[in-house]
Amino acid sequence: MFRSLATRLTATYVFAAIVLVVIVIAAVTAFTLSMFGISARETQAEVARQVPEEVRLEVLRSGNLSAAAVDIARHLARPGLRVAVFERVGLRHRFLAASLPERIEGAGTTVITAGRSPLGNAPGGLLGGPGDLGGPGGPGAPGGPGGPGGPGGAGPPDPGGSHRYDRMEPYPFSLNFVLHLEPKDVYFPNGRVTLSPDPAELIRAINAFWFAMVPIGLFVVVAAWILGRYITGQALRPLVETTSSLNRFGAGDFTPRPVESTSRDEIGELVRAYNAAAAQVSAAFEERRAAELEMRQFIADAGHELRTPLTVIMGFVDVLRRRALNEPASSSKIYDTMLAESRRMKALIDKLIILARLENPQQRELETVDLAQVAGNVATAFQALGSGPRVELRAESDALVRGYETELHDAVSNLVENALKYAPESPVGVRVYGDKETVNVDVTDRGPGIPLEEQTQVFSRFYRGRDRADAEGFGLGLAIARRAVERAGGTLTLWSEPGYGSRFSMCIPRATRGESISVAV
Ligand code: ADP
Repeated sequence: MFRSLATRLTATYVFAAIVLVVIVIAAVTAFTLSMFGISARETQAEVARQVPEEVRLEVLRSGNLSAAAVDIARHLARPGLRVAVFERVGLRHRFLAASLPERIEGAGTTVITAGRSPLGNAPGGLLGGPGDLGGPGGPGAPGGPGGPGGPGGAGPPDPGGSHRYDRMEPYPFSLNFVLHLEPKDVYFPNGRVTLSPDPAELIRAINAFWFAMVPIGLFVVVAAWILGRYITGQALRPLVETTSSLNRFGAGDFTPRPVESTSRDEIGELVRAYNAAAAQVSAAFEERRAAELEMRQFIADAGHELRTPLTVIMGFVDVLRRRALNEPASSSKIYDTMLAESRRMKALIDKLIILARLENPQQRELETVDLAQVAGNVATAFQALGSGPRVELRAESDALVRGYETELHDAVSNLVENALKYAPESPVGVRVYGDKETVNVDVTDRGPGIPLEEQTQVFSRFYRGRDRADAEGFGLGLAIARRAVERAGGTLTLWSEPGYGSRFSMCIPRATRGESISVAV
């Protein structure tokens, strides 16, 4: 019926308030009824005890029961108790008089005698007052003690007969049953007195109570609605904000805007979980954006690097095609340059292929690699190129790690090549050592070092230092080395002090021989 959760919850509050009001009303009513029942029964019992003595005294005073009936009814009357006096005639009982307790307060008790209506309308309708019962009585009315009938005595004849007053009228809603009230007959030799608890007062009280409860109930319902609306609005606010944030996500806006919630309930937990997930998604998208940017930059850089030698080669090809140069010396210079540029292009393409391979996340089984051996191979390779004497190798044996041998060879080779290139006057130290956990390869030189502000950038692709002089390169060597080390589960760090030299340290988890694991890289 209610589509919004807030409205549904509010309706629940209102329903709970209504139930509470009904319970309170029922409890108060039940308590009042039971108190009334107890008090009515006590009054009835007490009056019942007084009946024999009262009848004896009044009959003695008035001469007979008929003459005494009014006084008996008057004297025995109590609030909430109807007293009817009967005379025994043969096997039957004839009604003589009854008190109407609902008119007892203030002015006295109204008494009706046989054949009369209650004298309720009479302002002077006081039992015991002159004329109360002095009017023309109905058949069998013995007449009151008073003299001539007053205005109170002029009630219309009671068409229903006196029996209307001798028994208790049933209470609404089976109150008789609830209150355990029964008329009580007290017999004496020539008649009886019937004591009936009277419901009129109680019914009036209950009606007044219920009537008062209508505005109170309405107020409670309205207050419950307003309060419920406020409370649910507050409680559901984080949920609403989370929904609108998710809608934003759905529309493609991944700006992290955490939803605030300090509550520890389920909604608070949901909000915290959402915030964590949103942060992850935002970070992932940020990462993807950065990676895309980097890739674009990489393609642009690679294109630029390849275009330069290609432009040179194309220029010379054009010259050769037009046969503009006939001197063999110039031609041979052109061929040399074209060859050098082609080599440069090939070198760049080789590095790009290595880099592409390193970025490939495909799974393949890692090999056990001895870094001491790798370092030795690298040193040997540089010796073959004539740089051997400058490379000082110190390697502990069994420097085993898990990785890819060619990639780790490329990494060490790039570090040594850089040291030889950028520190031409310095010896290059290659040290392989480790502890139980890791194997380290340090490549150290005492060259110019790297300025502090460049130290984080040198690992970026195509980054070349400002003070690299005219050293050959593409700015890919360190990027390749770092990625290769990372694929073996290690790190490549740099320590450098301008003027004192640089140390690149590879640190890779140690492996035992024969260990075989595969990782996603
Ligand atoms: P490349 O050597 O092709 O320029 P690298 O990625 O290998 O690219 O190195 C990036 C930059 O780091 C170099 O341009 C250079 O400025 C600096 N660099 C690397 N190794 C050293 C070193 N041993 N000494 C001083 N500078 C270095």
